Amino acid sequence: MINIDKIFLERDLKDSPRANSIISHFSHLTPKIIDRYDEIFGKVKKPYLQKRQSVSLFIANKKGNLVKEAPEAYGTVGEKHFYFIHAFNCIYECEYCYLQGYFHSPDLVLFINHEDIIKEIKDVASQHPNDRIWFHAGEFSDSLALTHLTGELQVYFDFFRDNSNLIMELRTKSDNIDSLLSLSPVSNIITSYSLAPKKNLDYKAPTIDERLQAISRLHRAGFPIGIHLDPIIPSKNFNEVYSDLLYHLNEAIPLKEVQYFSLGVTRFPENIYHQVKKNYPQSILFNEHMLKDKNGIVRSPRPIRFPLMENIKQQIFDYDVEKSKIYLCME
Ligand code: SF4
Repeated sequence: MINIDKIFLERDLKDSPRANSIISHFSHLTPKIIDRYDEIFGKVKKPYLQKRQSVSLFIANKKGNLVKEAPEAYGTVGEKHFYFIHAFNCIYECEYCYLQGYFHSPDLVLFINHEDIIKEIKDVASQHPNDRIWFHAGEFSDSLALTHLTGELQVYFDFFRDNSNLIMELRTKSDNIDSLLSLSPVSNIITSYSLAPKKNLDYKAPTIDERLQAISRLHRAGFPIGIHLDPIIPSKNFNEVYSDLLYHLNEAIPLKEVQYFSLGVTRFPENIYHQVKKNYPQSILFNEHMLKDKNGIVRSPRPIRFPLMENIKQQIFDYDVEKSKIYLCME
């Protein structure tokens, strides 16, 4: 678990049972009362790798846009995708994480006004009454890593159970699944795991084996599972490495029963690319030939990346997975 050195609590939340329940997990710390988290969070630049020592925790209400439209090619093709924001930053550390250049601080922010988020989800859904709409959690954090502290899953499960035309995705690398397992599965809430071959790019996230075990437990308990093979990591024995990963994944959950697979290569907006280079100058990510494309995204050129994704697609098809279940992320 990441080391929390300070807690900042917004004044309006002083008497909030939800906030106090989170604080009770850190009985050695006395929260500092502040007016608004964004008067402090990220105001002074804090190095991303400071998270290896300690970070501060902000407990706040999110104001402004709580639900945002996802970029094109973010999710399954032909459907509308939005993400909602209930946390900033993550307790894990992955070399390719774009959060390292996104905020000016690795401090954690937990937003606890989930009812406001759900109200905005309802508003967005009401504007698209005839569409199948996705709402993704975990765009700026990991969706499960702190659920034993935050306890919000029940709120979202209650809403999505009653709104079966909407889909929620919990994106994660976490094996912190006890809170999830304590709930009854809902067919339109999909827990999606990011997997990559074992290459030591994820320092603090659960290992691939631990993630596979979590997937297996959730699948056996009836929770729908999605898989992100993202970022795809090239290597000399690429075919064998992914064949091995898919073999073990298929043991955790028959691939035919995975709801969808998304495939994506390592990619960064230019400013984040430079930040990653600064934090991890020796990273094998930089063995790849990468170029900035016309949209300002740094990634390997199409003639390199498409054959990699095609290779994995074909390997997944060998498990009798329907073609429509695979999409290419951000392509
Ligand atoms: S788990 Fe995701 S959000 Fe967390 S550090 Fe890794 S890439 Fe970033």
